[in-house]
Amino acid sequence: MYLSMVVPCFNEEHGLQRLRDALVEALAGHVREYEVILVDDGSTDRTLSEARRLSEQDPRFRYVSLSRNFGKEPAMLCGLRHARGSRVAVLDADLQHPPGLLPRMLVLLDTGYDQVVARRGRSGEGAWRTALSRIYYRLARRALDVRLHDGAGDFRVLSRRAVDALLSLPEHHRFSKGLFAWIGFETGQITYRNVPRETGESRWRLSALVDHGFDGLISFNDTPLRPAIYLGPVIAGLAGSLACRRQPGMAGLLALGGVQVFLLGVLGEYLGRSCAESRRRPHYLVKECGPIRAQLPDGHR
Ligand code: UDP
Ligand code: MG
Repeated sequence: MYLSMVVPCFNEEHGLQRLRDALVEALAGHVREYEVILVDDGSTDRTLSEARRLSEQDPRFRYVSLSRNFGKEPAMLCGLRHARGSRVAVLDADLQHPPGLLPRMLVLLDTGYDQVVARRGRSGEGAWRTALSRIYYRLARRALDVRLHDGAGDFRVLSRRAVDALLSLPEHHRFSKGLFAWIGFETGQITYRNVPRETGESRWRLSALVDHGFDGLISFNDTPLRPAIYLGPVIAGLAGSLACRRQPGMAGLLALGGVQVFLLGVLGEYLGRSCAESRRRPHYLVKECGPIRAQLPDGHR
């Protein structure tokens, strides 16, 4: 098997046929042998029946359906576990990751890379989202021990070696952007223009984006804990000097309280994270798949 394509799908009933046509057209004449793994992430619309229909029509299309909506990260992991190809592409179902780029990405991969990422520009995107992303990547550059690049997301092709490396990472809270960077290997990139979603709607509300971003910051190191070490003595000194000037006013108290609550929150995040990891629950549960046999998540891979 030359190429597996992993496509996480949540409520994409109107987009799957179009995705299929676009993939078949993009790969014709470039890739002879491939499979497409549609991972239905507990959709509440007719995504699963669409996936079944496509797999009956075209044996290269397979699907796995999860028992509920687990989120894009677990859905992607599920697809990667089922992929049998010597190269694996990951792309969204909504055609925002243009399948037409795949042949170029594969050619680049074969020049000696283990990952090729397609980086997108931010044209046509909401102003707040662009601004938030800029701030985030600036912050991430300072705080993380892996390098994240703006616009370099999950649209990639990976060598078998890179896929196996990703599958060997057992963590429960997965932040793929960071994991792709963490595994290393030579990474090539191409760039493309952002295209708006054609059908359905994005699941990323502002709060979900902020949560996801925080996941990334917390998942990769303990830098966010460090302010406690520096801030503690500074605050104590500040409180001392306020007391000396007989100004133990509300402002000082509030500032102190705020910092404490913030740091408690950060600590709590790490604690919650380690609880979730120690439970060792599977990342997802499979409800149905066809025509592939389910690879049971073993909680360790
Ligand atoms: N997705 C998923 N599970 C979810 C949310 C999204 O599998 O809980 C899939 C979705 O069907 C799409 C991809 O992840 O194929 C990206 O989602 P979306 O388009 O909502 O994100 P955006 O493009 O806005 O970042
Ligand atoms: Mg999208």
